[in-house]
Amino acid sequence: MKKKIAILGSTGSIGKQALDVLSHYPEYYEIVAISARQNIDLLEKQADCFKPSAIAVTDCDRGRELKARLDGYDIKIYYGEESLVHMIEEMHIDMVLVAVVGISGLKVTLASINKGIDIALANKETIVAGGQLVMETARHKGCSIIPVDSEHSAIFQCINSCKNHEEIKKVHLTASGGPFRGYTKAKLGKVTVEDALNHPNWKMGKKVTIDSATLMNKGLEVIEAKWLFDMEPDQINVIIHPQSIIHSMVEYIDGAVIAQLGRADMRIPILYAFTFPRRFPTMTEPLDLFQTGSLTFERPDIHTFPCLQLAYSALTMGGSMPVVLNAANEVAVAKFLREEISFNQIPVIIEKAMGKHKILNNPKIDDIIYIDKQTRLSIG
Ligand code: NDP
Ligand code: MG
Repeated sequence: MKKKIAILGSTGSIGKQALDVLSHYPEYYEIVAISARQNIDLLEKQADCFKPSAIAVTDCDRGRELKARLDGYDIKIYYGEESLVHMIEEMHIDMVLVAVVGISGLKVTLASINKGIDIALANKETIVAGGQLVMETARHKGCSIIPVDSEHSAIFQCINSCKNHEEIKKVHLTASGGPFRGYTKAKLGKVTVEDALNHPNWKMGKKVTIDSATLMNKGLEVIEAKWLFDMEPDQINVIIHPQSIIHSMVEYIDGAVIAQLGRADMRIPILYAFTFPRRFPTMTEPLDLFQTGSLTFERPDIHTFPCLQLAYSALTMGGSMPVVLNAANEVAVAKFLREEISFNQIPVIIEKAMGKHKILNNPKIDDIIYIDKQTRLSIG
């Protein structure tokens, strides 16, 4: 029986790669649902190619336009803010890839879990803001959350042979260091949006690319690792590894360290999230370590890149603080992309928002949405 798959954020970097890898295995996977915020031109092409039963467009006007364009096709079009949730609730789906960007993934991830659907999770902001709630609900419903983020996929792969959680000493998350590795604070003050979007190793959506340049991406991934693998903050270590060949490592109590290596190609972790526990061939070039040469490691410079430290602080403070960290970061990154603030103002905005917040423990979905909104409003 084919697995019925929904790709949420199908017009994005992860979504497009997911459609690409799954298109090679039509005997195993059927794409039954796709979605975007507003890129209906691409959705129309994807609809033609993959013949899904449903499409969700969160922007109402664009959704109506797509509905008119696809009149006569046997495809149900959902549109509006709640369209992702409505689509998931009405359909029979075996696995949802959540590859939308930002907090917009939270509600639909929870709705999917509540229906007992397994999740392939790319959208890290969801687990940062709602980690406890998402993981508890998934446990309760017996759903799997399979990481797509390359570092967490690596840890997931290194941890799978471990039968006893107590035997894990630490996880080591690797980070490329982004385009500004080695920069001083003064030099960072002058970088442009174009500079920040020029990531040395990975081609990704704009938000995650800016997060990689500030090291907030690694901060969000530290929080993601805490929830996905049940780790304490001091069990999660970040190592700068500019070659992006080792995707992360797990250190065990006996001193053994297991790493996952591969080319910097998201198609590997994306496909693995669907095929787990099996492995299927990908179109990725084999890793040639002779050609790669030296693998090097450095400590992160948390003074020049304070976002990483802010994420550790939010994680240690706990409760609703990561919601504020995430919301403030989303607003600050959007402002930077619109050239309204400088690169160095991103952590300043986040720290200020965190400083004003009174922590709520064990936030529920309505609390998270409220705190997220209030944080955005307070920054303006
Ligand atoms: P992109 O910006 O390339 O794509 C985002 C997708 O989500 C698009 O389909 C977009 O639609 C849709 N979208 C954007 N905003 C909303 C919204 N408010 N509601 C519903 N849908 C929305 O992002 P990426 O693919 O790069 O990243 C997706 C997620 O995966 C992020 O959380 C990122 O951190 C994570 N990730 C990405 C990696 C990568 O290599 N790209 C690696 C690891 C994690 P439209 O095109 O219409 O705007
Ligand atoms: Mg990553």
